[in-house]
Amino acid sequence: MSRRLIIAGIVGALLIVALVRALLAPAPRGVQTDTRLLMGTLVTISAWGVEKGRAQPAMNAAFAEMARIEARMSRFVDTSEVAGLNAAERGTWQPLSEELERVVTLGMEIDGLSGGAFDIGLGPLSDLWGFSREPPPETPPEAARIEAWRAGRATLTGPGIEIDAHRLRLANTSVALDLGGIAKGYAVDRAMEILEREGVAHALINAGGDMRIVGDKGGKPWHIGLRDPRQAEGVVAVMDLKGSIAISTSGDYERFFLHDGVRHHHILDPATGQSARSGLISVSIQAPSSFLADSLSTALFVLGETKGLALLEKFPDCAALLIRADGSRIQTPGFIAAPPTTP
Ligand code: AMP
Ligand code: MG
Repeated sequence: MSRRLIIAGIVGALLIVALVRALLAPAPRGVQTDTRLLMGTLVTISAWGVEKGRAQPAMNAAFAEMARIEARMSRFVDTSEVAGLNAAERGTWQPLSEELERVVTLGMEIDGLSGGAFDIGLGPLSDLWGFSREPPPETPPEAARIEAWRAGRATLTGPGIEIDAHRLRLANTSVALDLGGIAKGYAVDRAMEILEREGVAHALINAGGDMRIVGDKGGKPWHIGLRDPRQAEGVVAVMDLKGSIAISTSGDYERFFLHDGVRHHHILDPATGQSARSGLISVSIQAPSSFLADSLSTALFVLGETKGLALLEKFPDCAALLIRADGSRIQTPGFIAAPPTTP
């Protein structure tokens, strides 16, 4: 055999070995991310430590789960279970799915514990303000319409929502379900469950104000910035988190308009019919589930510092970071956060 042929043979064999090695080697295992528009917000899922071929179907299934929950619980989807309940004649019992019953039950529990500050029946008031409309509102509703809503409310003794034997009944037309302060958290929990079931042990789901993490990033914590409520690009604290934890933030900067120098925003105080003005401009909750973090962040925002912290004491495995209008903060002992690192 000529020398040239021998060299060509060796090179060929080496190439084959390299090719086989490349095929057998695991694909790079960095972070895989994907984003979808769901539940009125951009939802990003990051999965760490799984090959793309495995991460993508898992993320697709998690997004599909959130879409399924939106189709059931959004009051803006005409065919949703919630829209059906809201359209039903008042005072009549309507069938309630087991899943919606879970969400409404926790909502009503927080309603009771917050003395009505968290109110999943304030749909008609949310409609008057219209923060979910496109284009967003620029002026407050007429005062007389808010007063008419309050008058309808004043005739009720409780929240005007009753549940019994997988059925639900709304008291009068001043009550309609608005699960905007709780359903996204529930959906994030279900989506995380799907990711874990599909073999993703390290993930972060970021759905606007509601986030949940599991695991870590190759031994390092997930690094999450907490937005400065008055500077869109600013960060007031960083949270380095590992394991299973949910973080939700409610703020007066998410959906708002200024009218005659007054800030009107999407978190409403059922007692006044106006945007909640409790002295807080941002409330973050760390909790074992997004379901709880979401509802508590909204509830504490409406309640304010004193009553809010009293409510939080009933949830020993939850912690809060509150930001007052003057920028000062209150952080409960269990809340994991550090000052932002200066660039
Ligand atoms: P979040 O951004 O989680 O604080 O939730 C705000 C959303 O919850 C609003 O867009 C409304 O759909 C709904 N909401 C507003 N005010 C309240 C309230 N007092 N109690 C319960 N849900 C509310
Ligand atoms: Mg919330």
